[in-house]
This record gives sequence, C-alpha cells and structure tokens, in this order.
Amino acid sequence: MQCPNCGGPTKWIARTRVRQIVHGKCRHIIKPYNDTIFQHSNWPIRYWLYAMLHVANSKTSIDGNFLSRQLGVREQTARGMLGRIRLHLAGIDHLSVFGKLGDTVHIRLERPRRIYMPGVKRRKTTQVLCMAVGRSVRTIVTDIARPHRLKVLVNARIHPEAKVVTDCHHTLRVVSGYRDYPRLVFDPLYFADREPGSDSITGFMNSFARGVKGQHKHLRMPGLWLFLKEYEFRFNRRHRSHETFGDMLAAFPSFSPSVRETLRAWNDDLPR
Ligand SMILES: [Zn+2]
Repeated sequence: MQCPNCGGPTKWIARTRVRQIVHGKCRHIIKPYNDTIFQHSNWPIRYWLYAMLHVANSKTSIDGNFLSRQLGVREQTARGMLGRIRLHLAGIDHLSVFGKLGDTVHIRLERPRRIYMPGVKRRKTTQVLCMAVGRSVRTIVTDIARPHRLKVLVNARIHPEAKVVTDCHHTLRVVSGYRDYPRLVFDPLYFADREPGSDSITGFMNSFARGVKGQHKHLRMPGLWLFLKEYEFRFNRRHRSHETFGDMLAAFPSFSPSVRETLRAWNDDLPR
C-alpha cells in the first residue's frame, strides 16, 4: 500500500491493540476502522462478523437478547451492535434517487402494525411509503398527520423521468391531496395481468410483519427506519440470498455524523 503522506512503499507496522497501522518511514498513522461501524467498539472484529452473519442468515431478523447469548456480551451491547449493523446496511444500499429513466415505480402507503411511539398515547400514526421497481423495494417512514409531505417525497426520492403508478385508491387520494396530480397514475388492475407474486410491496410488508411479530413483538417508532432497512437489504437479495453476507462485507461506507444524518433524512421523514 502506498503511503498517503509521503508516497513511499516502505513497510507498514500494525499496532493491533490500538487498531492502527503506522508507516515505517514517516510514522504516518492510519486508523482503518475510523468512520466505519467498528469505530468506537472494543469488541474483537470477529464478534462483529459473527453478528453480521446471523443478521444475513436469519429470515426474520434477530434481537438483542439472542445475540447477547450467542456472543456472551451484555444485552445492551448486543442491541447497540445490531443498531450499528443496520446503519451499515442502510449505508451500503443508499441511493440518491430510486428508479431510473424509463422505469415504472409502483408505490403504495402501508401501515405496519405493532409500532408505537414512546410517550405518545395516540397509536397507529406510522405510515410507510413503499416504492418498488420489479423485485426491489424501498421504504420511507412518514407520519399519517403529514400528508402534504407525500408529494414532496414522491418528487424528491423517485427519478424525475420514471413513471409512478399505484394500484391503491387510498394512496392516490392521500398523495394527490384529492387534487389533480398527473405524476401519479392510478391503475387498479396493475397486477391483474402479471404473474402471482410480482407485487413486491405486499411481499416485503408481509415479511416485515412476520419479523416484527415473531422477533421484536413491537418496535419503537424513531428506530423504525433502521429495521426497515435491514429487512429491505435481505428482501432485495432474496433471489440470490447466498450472496447477502458477501454484500454486507463488500463495502464499508463512511459514517461521519453528516452521512448518518443524510441517511436518516432520506429514509425517515418524521419531524425532528
Ligand atoms: Zn509515509
């Protein structure tokens, strides 16, 4: 490896305990784990890889309790690790816009069950805007009380040259605000001439509901988008699921605070 400081190819010295490599010639220090999900962790990387393997191989996700027993760490630690792994998955799959020129993006508003907001008595406020192209699904968490944001989301998150279609009358009414909105085409028979199982949004929401019911019992709303990203990561690779773990380790996106905020803002449109 070339040294970014002096450009020389001299030997690098590994300081494994402090997780640094030092250039032998100019003493330039590189911290390979900085800005990755491993940055502030003292746990060995093999623990993290083991946790990631579990996340990749489970069908319905895993919870902190299970992981804490697998790794022999405290439950709080395990929960923190899972949160960071989910962030990592969100970072790998991040897009600036969904769809491309000539795509038909199918959208639908969904209301996942078993989601609650801590401290809020009013329930059923969660709303998820699902977007699908072929087998691939993306979700954005919104609030049911902010229907005016939906048009903004459709315009900002979907490629301007892509066609937007929905088969759900409720979605059409809410997104268009009961007004004329030519961007969104209403086609109630969208799936009528397609083969069974081509409705990716229903498939995704079913797999998510199964996971929430079986693994988590219920979810806190502020962290909901991270859970959705984890399910999306697996769901969008279901036709080549043996490569999921490889994809997880193929990239280590940066997680500086600004990147984290960008990720959250793309996927989660709740008011701050
Ligand atoms: Zn150097």
